[in-house]
Amino acid sequence: MVAVIYSDDYLQHQVPYGHPERPARLTAIVQALQTVPWRASIRWLSPNAHRPVEQYLGWVHTPTYLERLSAICAQGGGYLDGDTPVSAKSDRVARLALCGWLDGVDWVLDRGETVLVCARPPGHHALPDNGMGFCIFGNAAMSALYALKVKHLTRVAILDWDVHHGNGTQAMVETHPNIAFCSLHQAHFYPGTGYPEERGRYNNVLNIPIPAHQDFRVYADLLNTQVLPFLRHFAPQLLIISAGYDALASDPLAQMNLQPQDYGEMTRILQSLNCPLLFGLEGGYHLDALAAAVVATLAACRFPVPN
Ligand SMILES: [Zn+2]
Repeated sequence: MVAVIYSDDYLQHQVPYGHPERPARLTAIVQALQTVPWRASIRWLSPNAHRPVEQYLGWVHTPTYLERLSAICAQGGGYLDGDTPVSAKSDRVARLALCGWLDGVDWVLDRGETVLVCARPPGHHALPDNGMGFCIFGNAAMSALYALKVKHLTRVAILDWDVHHGNGTQAMVETHPNIAFCSLHQAHFYPGTGYPEERGRYNNVLNIPIPAHQDFRVYADLLNTQVLPFLRHFAPQLLIISAGYDALASDPLAQMNLQPQDYGEMTRILQSLNCPLLFGLEGGYHLDALAAAVVATLAACRFPVPN
């Protein structure tokens, strides 16, 4: 079995017409998962909205930012930065997305099933003091901190395979010795960070910029020769995947050449770590390819991994 955490409330973060980070992304994923031949292997879970999220938000975000976000939503919506719109309910939806990610941490650790958090808005660009790049809260970073502080793990890793560098996640965890962060991303691209020289205070950060137009052979080689050795050395008790699907060849925002089934193969490579896996949705803007790639990811997870 695999677990998918989803709520229709995630559609209530509304964006202007034509914005790529739109509710239809989730609808496409849900419809695809509901029609796969192995759909009986999917356990659908609703996020727990009753978590003390203000406490968790305070771990990484400034009070000033949280107040500004609430004020913008209370007046009906606006923009956090030039490409990050929020609507009237976005602050509540973003909190519910965080709840979903934290539910995922609980579920994968307590129940041993791989989880996909099918939530929006995404989070890996969000900075401590502002949202940016379609992202509002640092879900992956807070999930890692939650696993340390609440679930009492001592080593948590985050792998960000979204085509954009996870600058916000890195900013939140790079000084934390118990969190390792690795990002694979298109070189010389938004948001302009993620150079190999950025290694974290404890050598706990691995940034791998990749030239545009590369395909799965390059990704597989980098995963096997750089990412796996980095993660094996750190020996995480939980691996959180900031699962963006915008390195797909058909994605309108980037220039990488992955195919949907490649995400299944990348997942199988990560399974060799024998570590619990939590996938949380970040980017991915071609609806059909996004849905097919999520299906490929979870298809690789529905059977227990043989040791
Ligand atoms: Zn992205």
